[in-house]
Amino acid sequence: MTKKEFEQWQQPGKDGLYSLVRRDQDGNLKLVPYSEAYKSDLEKAAEILRQASELAEDEQFANYLSMRADALLSDDFRPSDMAWMDMKDNEIDVVIGPIENYEDQLFAYRTAYESYVLLKDMEWSEKLAKFAAFLPELQKGLPVDDKYKSEVPGTDSDLNAYDVVFYAGHSNAGSKTIAINLPNDEEVQLAKGTRRLQLKNAMRAKFDKILVPISEVLIAEDQRQHITFPAFFSNTMFHEVAHGLGIKKTVTDGSNVRQALKETSSALEEGKADILGLYMVTRLHEKGEIEEGELMDNYVTFLASIFRSVRFGAASAHGKANMMRFNYFKEQGAFTRDPETGQYSVDFDKMQEAMTSLSNLILTIQGDGDYEKSKELLDSKGVVGAELQADLDRLSDADIPVDVTFIQGKEVLELK
Ligand SMILES: [Zn+2]
Repeated sequence: MTKKEFEQWQQPGKDGLYSLVRRDQDGNLKLVPYSEAYKSDLEKAAEILRQASELAEDEQFANYLSMRADALLSDDFRPSDMAWMDMKDNEIDVVIGPIENYEDQLFAYRTAYESYVLLKDMEWSEKLAKFAAFLPELQKGLPVDDKYKSEVPGTDSDLNAYDVVFYAGHSNAGSKTIAINLPNDEEVQLAKGTRRLQLKNAMRAKFDKILVPISEVLIAEDQRQHITFPAFFSNTMFHEVAHGLGIKKTVTDGSNVRQALKETSSALEEGKADILGLYMVTRLHEKGEIEEGELMDNYVTFLASIFRSVRFGAASAHGKANMMRFNYFKEQGAFTRDPETGQYSVDFDKMQEAMTSLSNLILTIQGDGDYEKSKELLDSKGVVGAELQADLDRLSDADIPVDVTFIQGKEVLELK
């Protein structure tokens, strides 16, 4: 099927999330709902969810599991998404269904089935709730003109830490996510918001197997003691919280920043979350709210993380944002590279200055809804230079993996 044939096809629901496009006997296109196409597998999965529902001790969780079983058989996921948003106290969680649309490279309409089985980390979840409460105060202190920080961020963002017991389907294919933000259904988002889930043990695996080895190649020896897991975890975490800071409507005509900045909006928004995440960590350290480790840990780990992330490719929104920040920091002297060893060192004071000026720049572009400036910033700075590429090649030469794979399942857990 060509893109054109699909576009010319007069068929209601053809851009839906949960159907296959097939040909009938006469060669005409037709839709087959997932619930029909995968009926026997879905019946098995639904039956297991119902059994789990009977075992679940948390009433809301039990209810969600049986609603999700219904959803798998009907392709109607909204009611169970609503129920998922209402769950607050369950320590076990399950994400299951056709959810993300990245596999549909033609139109990004169709979703792929995936599943996560999760255990909530109660201690970290409490810390996160505590940090989210600082958002309004941190918003007021943002290093930008008052008119760009007049919005009041919500403090009820549902942000929790989990350990993942099992990844399946799409979530276990290709790159492994370390944070989930769901549901995707905008109707549910409008009614109930979203939940942000931080996957702690998956982060730990990437830290041990990738970030530490990267730092042994690219971070100056006398700064390597600053590569720590708590710093990596909090940097990732505060990235998520920082999405809540800044500005959602332009100061020029009140339109949505997302629409004003068009295709550059997600790269700039990711760039904002990264830099304001670091800003939050800095302020909370200064206030004495973060007790473990020192601020320099966050900075050096942040730099090493840029090398990790950029290996996923500079084409994606995250990749572009990473490169833009890397090149900006470099120009500002936030880090230096020793030409002898090819290793990088953070300059603490200049790092703070660069963090402040980049925050200011991004918030201003967003607030002005300045598409041209956004595009200019990303086009000029969102690229991998020759020197950096050579350094990244040293990581491949050292056999440092780009991502982890999981050995998981009943056998590993020694369950029958
Ligand atoms: Zn983000």
